[in-house]
Amino acid sequence: MKNLEDWRKAGKIAAEALEYGKSLVKKGNTLLEVSDKIEDKIVKLGGKPAFPVSISCDYFAAHYCADPDEKTVFNAQVVCVDVGVHVNGAIGDNAATVDLSNNWSDLIKASREALNAASKIIQIGTNINEIGRTIQETIQSFNFSPIKNLSGHGLGLYEIHTKPSIPNFDNGNTEKLKKGQIVAIEPFATNGLGMIYETDRANCFALKQVKPVRTPFAREILKHIQEEYKTLPFTTRWLSRKFGLGKTNLALKELLNKGILDKFPPLPEKNKGMVSQAENTFLIDDKVEVLTKL
Ligand code: MN
Ligand code: MN
Repeated sequence: MKNLEDWRKAGKIAAEALEYGKSLVKKGNTLLEVSDKIEDKIVKLGGKPAFPVSISCDYFAAHYCADPDEKTVFNAQVVCVDVGVHVNGAIGDNAATVDLSNNWSDLIKASREALNAASKIIQIGTNINEIGRTIQETIQSFNFSPIKNLSGHGLGLYEIHTKPSIPNFDNGNTEKLKKGQIVAIEPFATNGLGMIYETDRANCFALKQVKPVRTPFAREILKHIQEEYKTLPFTTRWLSRKFGLGKTNLALKELLNKGILDKFPPLPEKNKGMVSQAENTFLIDDKVEVLTKL
């Protein structure tokens, strides 16, 4: 792989930024300030956010991004922090969960141990469903359930989700891991149903396909998205700081209506179960390498 150093650098910065982020998740701190600080840290370390920092509390499993006027203050919550970094499009994606409640240490252990168990069995030729089965069995051994409609994924240049999809349960897919693949494995554990749903209001988007746009400021914002984020996810908060919130919201509405953007709304657990997540990015090679390591 000719840009392996970019992948390694992105992974290392992602791990450092996640570690820093975890240290900031404390009762009384705000979700907005912590998100901004993590993203600033990524830039200071020489990377760029591969997607907006996602900080999902309690029964939110993923994709909770700070709004421009986000009011959430951390209290006795279970907090999933998901951080992605890119270097020239090469991505490191990792996540961990902080327990501010002191009631859910087993839940956090369940996803972390599932990730550990998966990382021990993966090599060139491992069946995809075997990874899922290992994750499922580990989480169930803690008397929790894996979230079945969230999965790990392959990573490509400027592509956050590519093949293969890595399930958190045995889905029967006997395709095998291949040499040279870069994959993120991300078990989610819950005391709920083990399913998430999509809420309707998103503040995280990505470019799907470019089409002609009529309004000048929507065109201006689309140009910025193409140049700055390419096909990687971005958030209202980032655009509003450059273009103002009113203009940003109108432009986003137009771009969504035209089918130019995909949206990624927050994902709560169906039964409002508490959720923990753990994630690392791996290079599948003769010797598997954890890319998101300090
Ligand atoms: Mn992630
Ligand atoms: Mn991921």
